[in-house]
Amino acid sequence: MTSFPLWRGRRLRRTESLRALVRETRLIPDRLILPLFVTEGTGVRAPVGSMPGVFRTSVDEAVVDTREAHGLGLGGVILFGIPEHKDAEGSGAWDDEGAVQRAVRAIKDATPDLNVLTDVCMCEYTEHGHCGVLREDGTVDNDPTLELLARTALSHARAGADVVAPSDMMDGRVGAIREALDEAGYQQVAILSYAAKYASAFYGPFRDAADSAPAFGDRRGYQMDPANQDEALREVWADIEEGADMVMVKPALAYLDVIHRVKRETGWPVAAYHVSGEYAAIMAAAERGWLDGERAMEEALVSIARAGADAIITYWAREFARRNG
Ligand SMILES: [Zn+2]
Repeated sequence: MTSFPLWRGRRLRRTESLRALVRETRLIPDRLILPLFVTEGTGVRAPVGSMPGVFRTSVDEAVVDTREAHGLGLGGVILFGIPEHKDAEGSGAWDDEGAVQRAVRAIKDATPDLNVLTDVCMCEYTEHGHCGVLREDGTVDNDPTLELLARTALSHARAGADVVAPSDMMDGRVGAIREALDEAGYQQVAILSYAAKYASAFYGPFRDAADSAPAFGDRRGYQMDPANQDEALREVWADIEEGADMVMVKPALAYLDVIHRVKRETGWPVAAYHVSGEYAAIMAAAERGWLDGERAMEEALVSIARAGADAIITYWAREFARRNG
């Protein structure tokens, strides 16, 4: 290693063209995935109060958004359903005529080569807002939930999803889903598991958007403790051994160390979810003029890529693509 005055770090920072020459991380739109909230009806485009620029849309409007996403060169969209009816077991999740299933068909019809991912969980569909079947004591019963998750993933595969993404954090769900998909002839459908999903305060605005806040209690009995890193590796390896094609760390910014370690230790394709609270915090500060929102958002996304994420799920995907396409 040379040192001052032979070496001067500022030489290669002198102009933008020199900085570009030695830039280590390049984030391009085809690594970004746009989340969409799909609901019933037609012509629906309802803003989500806590997430400026984010909407709940009906299927026809979702197609408008996905055509735009495709035109901007994004890496894909991930769909979340907002059903009209909820029940105790969340049966709307595997309804072949549900908003998500209809949206997948419509999107694959309109833009066949745009990657369509679907979130697989029960919390948007259950009256109680938890991610699975409840026991009498109010805790989520792991094993009976697996069958419902598999049924849901299968209905998404039937609709034409390229990737199903279980977000429930039940043990054994990836294996159960892989088996159900393979038995039904959907060997080509990939699984992106929310492998290290933390019980985070940064999900607040999403629950507002998806109407999926738990009616009682919280999700700390199944989502991960924010203090743990080794445990994330156990979760990730378990999902890989059960058949996950990609693994996710969620949230992203407060867990860059986890993203980095998962990528380095597994070499597996890693996705990171730049979640609603991370987005909303920057948007809110920018609205008040407290920071430059566009620069802050780009810095956040580049840091997630620099940590080791291959793909990033972000509400800022379209804006990023418009600025960097
Ligand atoms: Zn859930």
